[in-house]
Amino acid sequence: SSRWARVAALLKELEERCATPVGKLRQVADAMAVEMHAGLASEGGSKLKMLISYVNNLPTGEETGLFYALDLGGTNFRVLRVQLGGKERRVLKQEFEEVSIPPLLMVGGSDELFDFIASALAKFVASEGEDFHLPVGRQREIGFTFSFPVRQTSIASGTLIKWTKGFNIDETVGEDVVAELTRAIERQGLDMRVSALINDTVGTLAGGRYHDNDVVAAVILGTGTNAAYVERAHAIPKWHGLLPKSGEMVINMEWGNFRSSHLPLTDYDQALDNDSLNPSEQIFEKLISGMYLGEILRRVLLRLAKEASLFGENVPPKLEIPFMLRTPVMSAMHHDTSPDLKVVGAKLKDLLGIPSTSLKARKVVVQICDTVARRGARLAAAGVAGILKKVGRESVARTVVAMDGGLYEHYTIFRECLQATFEEMLGAEAAASVVIKLANDGSGIGAALLAASHSQYR
Ligand code: ADP
Ligand code: MG
Repeated sequence: SSRWARVAALLKELEERCATPVGKLRQVADAMAVEMHAGLASEGGSKLKMLISYVNNLPTGEETGLFYALDLGGTNFRVLRVQLGGKERRVLKQEFEEVSIPPLLMVGGSDELFDFIASALAKFVASEGEDFHLPVGRQREIGFTFSFPVRQTSIASGTLIKWTKGFNIDETVGEDVVAELTRAIERQGLDMRVSALINDTVGTLAGGRYHDNDVVAAVILGTGTNAAYVERAHAIPKWHGLLPKSGEMVINMEWGNFRSSHLPLTDYDQALDNDSLNPSEQIFEKLISGMYLGEILRRVLLRLAKEASLFGENVPPKLEIPFMLRTPVMSAMHHDTSPDLKVVGAKLKDLLGIPSTSLKARKVVVQICDTVARRGARLAAAGVAGILKKVGRESVARTVVAMDGGLYEHYTIFRECLQATFEEMLGAEAAASVVIKLANDGSGIGAALLAASHSQYR
């Protein structure tokens, strides 16, 4: 019928617009490397901020002693402690606690928020058991993962540019968040020094490097996306400080904000961007991260429902609601291997209130999942290839990229497509020397490891 002909035409158009042949991916990788150069050359020189992290000592594995970490980046925060045993024994013991932040504190006063955090930290320290040892006369040290935009001024200071993710506390903006935390720690009567302020991507890099000396970059593919990598300090023109002894500096790329004329953007992406809280920002993130993949799918389905009656005469009202289709649901439908696609049918019924769907319609849904997820995974692979191009490790035997985030961890087709695309881009031989590996929860332990590698006692 003309209805299915219309569906097929719209699908064909989508696939053409989302196409990422390897030649295009090479252009994306090249553009990423070019923007990396530009962002390192001068402040504001590129859409890529290429933030200097002040992390110039990544953990080596030799670190010993007791270190704490605090991870604040959403509605929960985590406190963690590790006892490090050095090269042979590594992490001897590790404990953590997760605390949810009362919504009122997210929009109240600065002291109230930091007092709440410091008090949870003090309680956690008080529960420190026999397995953890602080040498006599030493101060406890903590690494602070703070996943909000910060203008860093040293390894242990940085001013908050703006709150995101539902936090809104005007008094903190422009303040040094380490000073805020330190004062709150003092108000608790706790003797503890904040040794490192880091972004979660930098923490993942540190956690990855601790276990594997060949780790040179970290990528997070979760709700959002970001990457960090190790740069030669003398290759950072905008850095006017002393060259660190290690000769290295970790750069927080903020790659979610990458954009290029080579990115395959569709009308669906343009509309999503226009309707977003941050129009024309984070374009790369809007193509590849977990916050948006399901929303792109929803927008395509809505158009098919309206213009080709994909789900029958009526447009399912719930399909009109932004962010109604989350990426984990998309992933579940995409991985449905049952002959009648019953998972797809059940999700469409339970989440969108579509009582019954034909097998043909379900197949269309899976096909769109495939198109949208593969485009994201292939572009993410191109981004990784761009980083490797910039760091130029052709002559090195082994290079490792540490990955973290719920999207990479749980969306199997996405993860496998990323790997396959990477091999397609580099060729089997070159790809054999690069390992892309899951570094689960690097960011939590990474902060404690960075507190150790930037300790006042080292
Ligand atoms: P965050 O990025 O918020 O710090 P995570 O790294 O845990 O947290 O990633 C969570 C995100 O991962 C979710 O927002 C979702 O987009 C994605 N995700 C989680 N589970 C799945 C899944 N089963 N399939 C696909 N994506 C998932
Ligand atoms: Mg995270």
